[in-house]
Amino acid sequence: QRERLRVFLRERARLSAKGRGARLTVLAGPTAVGKGSVSAYIRDNFPEIMFSISATTRKPRPGEVDGVHYYFVSDAEFDRMRANDELLEWAVVHNQSRYGTPRGPVEEALAAGRSVLLEIDLQGARQVRAADPEAFLIFLAPPSWEELVRRLIGRGTESAEEQQRRLETAKVELAAEGEFDKTVVNATVPEAAREVVELMSVPLRAQAQH
Ligand code: 5GP
Repeated sequence: QRERLRVFLRERARLSAKGRGARLTVLAGPTAVGKGSVSAYIRDNFPEIMFSISATTRKPRPGEVDGVHYYFVSDAEFDRMRANDELLEWAVVHNQSRYGTPRGPVEEALAAGRSVLLEIDLQGARQVRAADPEAFLIFLAPPSWEELVRRLIGRGTESAEEQQRRLETAKVELAAEGEFDKTVVNATVPEAAREVVELMSVPLRAQAQH
């Protein structure tokens, strides 16, 4: 009974959001392509777009703030969220930590007519596609493989072993481009960000400076 009510409410929210042009957009792409930078740029310059804040079991990096960059949760808390069907999608990323999109804020924003952007990995993008065939999937691509490797090594936040693992992941992720609705090449962050926002068909109210 509760499940039926939940499905009904979700469907109603989806339909009313559609009427107002709100859309669920996924931004995915290979590791180190610059999803984080593009996302941060959009967050700073296009406040009309709502960002989903993911829950993760990974530990915060220096400078990351709980409730801003992620909700940093314990394994037990993540298990609880999954069991309660509180996650729109979730995945184990880089064979270590779990990441998931809290369902509630996304559905509320769409119902209120706001466009929502999810910056998630490929496995998550596929789950969103399956759950909502009308979701719009954007693939953020590097200008070249060499540039992707350079960015991955240049970041210097991961160990050599972790870098190797991420490169392997990136190869597989690059091959998935064809599953997406659109590709945006991340040559420069401001341009890529603006392209993503344009694709979300949100008026360019806040003119970004760079
Ligand atoms: P990082 O640990 O570097 O912040 O993120 C690692 C990867 O996890 C990135 O590729 C990012 O897109 C992905 N990610 C972040 N949040 C989520 C989420 O909620 N769901 C999924 N499936 N992937 C996520």
